[in-house]
Amino acid sequence: EQPAPQADIAVANFVNVGERTNVTGSARFRRLIKEGDYETAVEVARQQVENGAQMIDINMDEGMLDAVEAMTTFLNLIAAEPDISRVPVMIDSSKWEVIEAALKCIQGKPVVNSISLKEGEGPFREHARLLRRYGAATVIMAFDEEGQAESTERRFAICQRAYRILTEELDFPPQDIIFDPNIFAVATGIPEHNEYALSYFEATRLIKEHLPHALVSGGVSNVSFSFRGNDAMREAIHACFLYHGIQAGMDMGIVNAGQLAIYEEIEPELRERIEDVLFNRREDATERLLEYAERVKGEKREQKEDLSWREWPVEKRLEHALVKGIADYIEEDTEEARLQVDHPLRVIEGPLMAGMNVVGDLFGAGKMFLPQVVKSARVMKKAVAHLIPYIEALKAGGDRKNSGKIVMATVKGDVHDIGKNIVGVVLQCNNFEVIDLGVMTPCEKILETARRENADIIGLSGLITPSLDEMVHVAKEMQRQDFAIPLMIGGATTSRAHTAVKIAPCYEQPVVYVKDASRAVGVATSLLSEELREPFVQKLRTEYDSVRERHQGKRRDLRIITLEAARENRFRTDWDDYRPPVPESPGLHVYNDIPLEEIVPYIDWTPFFFAWELAGRYPRILEDEVVGEQARQLFSEAQEMLSRLVGERRLRAHAVVGLFPANALGDDIEVYADESRHGELLTLHTLRQQTRRPPEQPNYALADFVAPRESGVADYLGAFAVHAGEGVEELVKAYEAEHDDYHAIMVKALADRLAEALAELMHARVRRELWGYAADEALDNESLIAEKYRGIRPAPGYPACPDHTEKWLLWELIRPDEHIGLKLTESLAMFPTAAVSGFYYSHPGSRYFNVGPVGEDQVHDYARRKGMSVAEIERWLAPNLSYEPE
Ligand code: SAH
Repeated sequence: EQPAPQADIAVANFVNVGERTNVTGSARFRRLIKEGDYETAVEVARQQVENGAQMIDINMDEGMLDAVEAMTTFLNLIAAEPDISRVPVMIDSSKWEVIEAALKCIQGKPVVNSISLKEGEGPFREHARLLRRYGAATVIMAFDEEGQAESTERRFAICQRAYRILTEELDFPPQDIIFDPNIFAVATGIPEHNEYALSYFEATRLIKEHLPHALVSGGVSNVSFSFRGNDAMREAIHACFLYHGIQAGMDMGIVNAGQLAIYEEIEPELRERIEDVLFNRREDATERLLEYAERVKGEKREQKEDLSWREWPVEKRLEHALVKGIADYIEEDTEEARLQVDHPLRVIEGPLMAGMNVVGDLFGAGKMFLPQVVKSARVMKKAVAHLIPYIEALKAGGDRKNSGKIVMATVKGDVHDIGKNIVGVVLQCNNFEVIDLGVMTPCEKILETARRENADIIGLSGLITPSLDEMVHVAKEMQRQDFAIPLMIGGATTSRAHTAVKIAPCYEQPVVYVKDASRAVGVATSLLSEELREPFVQKLRTEYDSVRERHQGKRRDLRIITLEAARENRFRTDWDDYRPPVPESPGLHVYNDIPLEEIVPYIDWTPFFFAWELAGRYPRILEDEVVGEQARQLFSEAQEMLSRLVGERRLRAHAVVGLFPANALGDDIEVYADESRHGELLTLHTLRQQTRRPPEQPNYALADFVAPRESGVADYLGAFAVHAGEGVEELVKAYEAEHDDYHAIMVKALADRLAEALAELMHARVRRELWGYAADEALDNESLIAEKYRGIRPAPGYPACPDHTEKWLLWELIRPDEHIGLKLTESLAMFPTAAVSGFYYSHPGSRYFNVGPVGEDQVHDYARRKGMSVAEIERWLAPNLSYEPE
């Protein structure tokens, strides 16, 4: 069987739903919830996400629990954890009141698990109608008035009946329908159960064929229920089931994200026996599988520390290490391989590439999952890092033929490049020639270079939202200038949806979103390979078409209310009862050359690991089973460099803060020159949440946190800008001159950390001294990182204030360019890059929120208030528009 040529597409469509946060499925989670240990329970959710779950299933249905209470408590807790709440939640309950309570807590797109026709069409319709109103997607179990569907025919018939009611009568968006055609246990010894897996696959195929846009899911662990207690066996069965389920069309599955075996790695005899069961291929399939399980149970014990692969030839060991993601021996093995060849490059081109190809194929065929690929990439990086000094030493003699030539650039107006540099390194490891044009690259320069160098691919990167627009511009120019090469898109704000909907339609050639460094090589290879290119591009087109279609559906479905109604539901304070604090030291304060020693203790290390694609919280990450060693190594190298940066004063850090009289005027904030509060210095503008909110929750705008002018109450607003970027460029240049990407990236990552830490330090100083409303505050760094203090410092371009152009006003107000040499690019990125800027709000009720989608009425109102054209505002706010602009 031919593995699918390309990884990303096949697997990008499959969503792992983490199952461990389920009181009926996990004894540990049940115990934690029952004991009220929510803190540890939240860690279970975090682990699922860290292990690659792209959604988490949460179930609190247990006789002894108040499920409504447990569900809402838990949801509110994880909502405050950005690394968990970045994935959607699947609300799993058979009790409608639990589902409804949960829906009220969820900010993003909710997914409900599940509703069914079990109690007839009446309740089904009623629930579906409510879910539609919440904009929820929902799982529909193949149950009806007669009970659970077991045969293929009944499974499909029930799904079809539900589909008709939903789409024809209730106008339920078909892309929000997720069928679960019942995964039941097999190999139970009961002959009626033998067809269960097979008929799940068959029903899945029928659904995908006949019920357009509907998705298919299932609780995978059920299938192996009869092997309770034998985890190895269960993992193997799950991997086989998923492999065939995905081929049949499964879009998502509820799994233990941390425990998935690799299909290809399952011992062939076992795999055959499992598949005999799944496909009901022989009478004695169950006995043979049980017999196998018994047989290996004994052997397994000793196998734990199986190091027999260490005896294999070095090429096989390298492959094994890559596929298994074992980094322990990679340096010694790489070194051994290097000594056997005439040029260290041969190690990359030979065994390492061969190993990565195996990984790519397994991934492409849905036999390996993203977290495992990330582990493999790390091993590859380690191996290559070991070889790079030798390669560099021999560079002159390198007569290598490339896999292809790629021109990469961070687009005009944007200055972020850590991710792009990592991708560049990985591509170079894989024998691509990379011409990196650096940051703030104008379109013309990118295209000229690509033409002159005869590039095979152009890769664009960007971090801030305005860069999305610039990428569209580049795509249009490539079309106009008749380019014939593919375009790759990557970077923090880019997405598959944006690429498919906004960029790809502008350019006839393939435009591919590349999610992270581990995928870049697969994509580039497919795009440039004669055999792989056609099927890859075909698949891409189909996939992007369906993304576009789904997007169309979404846009129409948003729950936007009028601006007037949103204002009516604003966050309210009784201004007669509340006296805003008066700043101790109003006006502007400039701090140059803040000693780095003072800043270091405020560093939040978690994002540092994230920048290096190591997921996990500091300090726990250092002890992490999987990434711990890598994290420790990285951390100790970071410490080493940090103490040099500090000791030798290689970087310089500066800050400017200002505290001003201010009052709100509607959704705007007037900032005054002095206490007379007459002529305003300038007027800031804030955007208001405009989607229907759950009961009791306001439609926030930042202006709500400042006393309105008509209240007659004197209030204040702060502004700040800091950077720790002076000196970064020289250091980076020096490292790059030595081809030392590792340290070049390290310097930037550390400068970023120092800038964020300085923002934290200044904020503390403002609260405790300059504004002085929290003079007695005593918080350790952990509490600071958790932002447990009073007041916020929202940053333009972030969710509560997504309009980057407010930075123009911020710059006018405190002049960071004059005072600390911090400039804005035309896209409103800050330069030097290691910088933070924003506003201070002191109100005890102030909090971060997400403005989210806004309506046309607000855009018009906002444009008028800012004195800008609607078209221009629509361009800057593109990611927040709830409608398609003209
Ligand atoms: N300790 C972290 C801090 C950065 S993220 C680090 O070292 O990287 C937190 C900051 O991002 C906040 O202080 C605020 O400035 C900004 N921020 C977070 N969420 C925001 C939102 N919803 N709206 C506006 N700004 C936000």
